Amino acid sequence: MTIHYLNCFTSHARVPTNWHTGTLCLLIETNRGLVLVDTGLGQDDYIHRTAILRMFKIVTIVPLDPDETAFHQISRLGYALADVRHIVLTHMHFDHCGGLPDFPHAKVHVHRWEYQAFTGCRRHWTELAYVRRHIAHQPEFALYEHTGDTWFDLPAIQLPFEPYIFFVPLFGHTRGHCGVAVRTTSGWLFHVGDAAPLDFSEQAPDWLVRFVMGPHLPKLQAFKAAHPEVCMTTGHMWLDFFKTG
Ligand SMILES: [Zn+2]
Repeated sequence: MTIHYLNCFTSHARVPTNWHTGTLCLLIETNRGLVLVDTGLGQDDYIHRTAILRMFKIVTIVPLDPDETAFHQISRLGYALADVRHIVLTHMHFDHCGGLPDFPHAKVHVHRWEYQAFTGCRRHWTELAYVRRHIAHQPEFALYEHTGDTWFDLPAIQLPFEPYIFFVPLFGHTRGHCGVAVRTTSGWLFHVGDAAPLDFSEQAPDWLVRFVMGPHLPKLQAFKAAHPEVCMTTGHMWLDFFKTG
């Protein structure tokens, strides 16, 4: 079983100037074909830039290289794009699900509350980062709600794949934001999406982290300290991470 770590959207902060990050997407070989966790931007985003991407471009330096799409990277890895049968989304912000139209036949797995936030009335400023055209091709959705399962000591929802994949609800960054835990050959990978900043460290005041990412950072830091055997990643990682894999 193989997991590929793809950077599907590079961003260089204007301040501080030494912040160079990529958006982490996972490509996982499972018993039901390839599963892509988050997609990054899609091909169409490079041609018809969304308003939120144009705004993002003002606050950060984004190279906008279409070679970074999951579509191109998966082809370069030697897979057939049709083998991507399932897409699991931490949440539906433009930089995490813009690539959905590139895999029109893939089933999209997402928490029900996230889907409702995306398709319903906008209630929160973070919902400005939803782009409705990303599901204009009307993909098939599998929607999940909590079932009473746990993963370690956290509430979790088991998805129908082997190796095991769980949603770990971490609401706050968006209404239905979830982390994704994946059983690997050597243990567990816990991808917390946008529920924690780079390195799980507080590089910004508490209130700002909570405002942007939700209330989970202290809990995730405690989990990381208690479970050093679990590999933990965030939705945006230092570019160096992708060089070392
Ligand atoms: Zn986000």
